[in-house]
Amino acid sequence: MRLLLHICCGPCSLKVIDKIKEKVDCNIQGYYYNPNIHPKEEFARRLYSTSQACAKKGIALNLESEYDIKSWLEFNEKKGNRCEMCYRRRIEATAKFAAENGFTHFTTTLLVSPYQNHDLLIQICEEMAEKYGVKFYYDDFRAVYREGQKEAQSLGMYRQKYCGCVLSFSDYKARIEIKKKNNEKISNATLKNYQSIAAGLELEKEAQKKYLIKNKFARELVSWLLTIVAALVIAIIINTYVFRISQVSGISMRQTYQGGERVCMSRLPYIFGDPDRGDIIVFDSEMTDRTFLTDIKESFQYNVITQAVFKVAPPKKYYIKRIIAVEGDVIRLAEDGVYVNDEKVSENYVNPDENPLYPIPGADFEANDWLIALHEGVEVPEDHVFVMGDNRNHSTDSRMLGFVPENDILGKVFKVLG
Ligand code: SF4
Repeated sequence: MRLLLHICCGPCSLKVIDKIKEKVDCNIQGYYYNPNIHPKEEFARRLYSTSQACAKKGIALNLESEYDIKSWLEFNEKKGNRCEMCYRRRIEATAKFAAENGFTHFTTTLLVSPYQNHDLLIQICEEMAEKYGVKFYYDDFRAVYREGQKEAQSLGMYRQKYCGCVLSFSDYKARIEIKKKNNEKISNATLKNYQSIAAGLELEKEAQKKYLIKNKFARELVSWLLTIVAALVIAIIINTYVFRISQVSGISMRQTYQGGERVCMSRLPYIFGDPDRGDIIVFDSEMTDRTFLTDIKESFQYNVITQAVFKVAPPKKYYIKRIIAVEGDVIRLAEDGVYVNDEKVSENYVNPDENPLYPIPGADFEANDWLIALHEGVEVPEDHVFVMGDNRNHSTDSRMLGFVPENDILGKVFKVLG
């Protein structure tokens, strides 16, 4: 049996090596791959203690000197468990190295620590064993943790005070601060130890600070851009569906709205209900079966901002008219007025000074099939309405345009702004 032992530091490996040797007859080699250890001085200290332990126990040591602070600085705790990432990385490298170098088994000294997630370590080791086709040697080394630490102490071996990564180092520093604030006495030797570690970290701290500043700026920028895009999307949705201001031009609704008056309109009543007779609406007179994209495009071109700042006039194709008949109604225009379902419509909104001419003033009545049909009575098709202007003799409406599809209605007019 050839066993590759991943070693995180000298003290953790001492009794683990003894325990393996006691249990199985095997050729053990050490493997130092710990890119998580920060700062570099600490990385070197643990590597040194590892080489001391291997020499003491008479095993060879394989070394990977990769040092990587970026992965830990960039690690987002919200997206996962940093220790899992850390274990995976180290154990995968160990299993791979074992497979590529003729080892039959591998294991790790991380299993000796009562502070590590033992079950997660086992799970990852088993996964990597399967992935690389090398056996995982398991033993609960935690039983010899204290003994190992004692042996390291007796050998004067360096023993670390934090797990390893820059994040665990911050926790450790915070603990020192609390100790200081509580005026606890720390021995000179301990203080010296802390100071040397802290000095080694200065460089790292600087790097971390620069990194954080750079990232803060990028985060701010992204957050501003997202806010602007979100505001734009919300404004377009509000402008298209909830609330829109438009200006009346022309005289076709003169009895009710004067040219130049501003009106509010909303599409909500027609999202949650159907158009009603008597509703005043704005619709797209081109009647090209508007789509969502048409709405968005026109919202960009014509909205409160373009109106107020750039004085953009409403598109000429937007008509304001009154709904006279809705789907299923039979509309009929007669000499004496408008009939819906054979009932004469009371139209107190039309110009009393002019006698409304039906079907249409000046039209060649005989030559127009549509007008003939209207004279005889036509049923409004599904999802359509029949509209006319209140200033009946001066309006281009369903008498010329035909039925208006509900899809082309931009909104119900509900308030005059003046
Ligand atoms: S706390 Fe320890 S195990 Fe967890 S990420 Fe940091 S160094 Fe790795």
